[in-house]
Amino acid sequence: MAKESASANPFEVAKQQVDIVADILHLDGGLRQVLKSPKRELTVNFPVKMDDGSYHVYTGYRVQYSMARGPTKGGIRYHPQVSLDEVRALAAWMTWKCAVVNIPYGGAKGGIICDPKHMSHGELERLTRRFTSEILPIIGPEIDIPAPDVYTDSQTMAWIMDTYSMQRGFSVPGVVTGKPISLGGSEGRGEATGRGCAYTIREAGKELGLKIKGGTVAVQGFGNAGSVCANILHDEQGAKIIAVSDSRGGIINPDGLNPHAVEEYKKKSGSVVGFPGAKAISNEEILETKCDVLVPAALENQITGRNADKVQAKIVAEAANGPTLPEADTVMYQKGITVLPDILANAGGVTVSYFEWAQDLQGFFWTLDEVNQRLERVMVQSYADTRRIAQQHKIHNRSAAYVLAIQRVVDALKTRGFFP
Ligand code: NAD
Repeated sequence: MAKESASANPFEVAKQQVDIVADILHLDGGLRQVLKSPKRELTVNFPVKMDDGSYHVYTGYRVQYSMARGPTKGGIRYHPQVSLDEVRALAAWMTWKCAVVNIPYGGAKGGIICDPKHMSHGELERLTRRFTSEILPIIGPEIDIPAPDVYTDSQTMAWIMDTYSMQRGFSVPGVVTGKPISLGGSEGRGEATGRGCAYTIREAGKELGLKIKGGTVAVQGFGNAGSVCANILHDEQGAKIIAVSDSRGGIINPDGLNPHAVEEYKKKSGSVVGFPGAKAISNEEILETKCDVLVPAALENQITGRNADKVQAKIVAEAANGPTLPEADTVMYQKGITVLPDILANAGGVTVSYFEWAQDLQGFFWTLDEVNQRLERVMVQSYADTRRIAQQHKIHNRSAAYVLAIQRVVDALKTRGFFP
């Protein structure tokens, strides 16, 4: 079903994924082109004053991929390897993700090429405020609503919200999500991605007859999404977390790790590496660890044609965006591995972002229980919808999630009269 990926360029991968679905849905050439083209792209080069008094010009991007189903939505990433093609791919995935969970958004993404690990708090604040002022004409609660992504957090969102509000002359909490609670953030947003991922793993376990209670789990990328998913699988579903990793390397203990203790250790030392009682393992090895559930929760292009046949997990739940290349999908499908694709498995974050935006627009806030119950309903329904399509077309879950999403976007385009 999947085609060989000519390169690891994430936008090429994103376009290949659209082509695969367009074949299944027999979409015509014009519609294919619309689905493979970002609607609006903005590149900005802007100066930031560094702590030593010098100026550095940074490059940032905001890509609004599709507005067919509503305002666009997507995170902002700070990373040295950010590129326009990466941002385009991430914006496309946001479009399909919002459609899979059936929330009324199109997709967007942003990023700045920078090395946040070597920038001070003040430099990051100036970078964020200046970037916000550069993209200000194209963001807003009815247009495009940014959120956190890799190496951005609730503080970053607070700076964006404040910069935007200063320009408007009043507080506009709905311009970003993932804000601190004190500024109109939602209960449960911080852990929504990992929690949503854990719900999809639970549903897949039920369908496969695989007991998550006592089952073994390996997590590549013990950051926000990965650590929360590990905590919830451990605390609420009784899973045994046997291996975790971060950018410096990984650790393994077949008897099980306490994810909360690992989190505390990482907070103090900066990495999971060196956690007492565990053996060192590389980021490549963690993907090949024998376990029931593997959660890639770091960056793109981790499971490829080279290592897919070495994956030994029964379920691969993609907390990260784009961790698997198309040729690896085919290999894992043939091996009988159940892949919970990113646009389903990590959609809990954008779902609670949508809840946050809805609460901000109403000025009426929900309890943590209300948020989690609504999130659970959305994830359970989206898992069931995806599986229904997979069985109907006899395709793997990623293609099924794309068919579900793209069909919804196509329906919106046609109903609006783009393709009568
Ligand atoms: P984060 O910065 O909190 O965590 C990323 C983690 O990955 C860190 O622990 C980092 O050390 C680790 N890492 C970086 N490079 C690595 C490598 N080469 N090998 C192994 N680990 C590595 O970011 P996050 O918010 O948890 O995002 C992680 C992934 O989840 C990204 O792909 C992101 O797009 C996706 N995601 C996040 C959210 C969210 O709400 N946070 C929502 C949807 C998708």
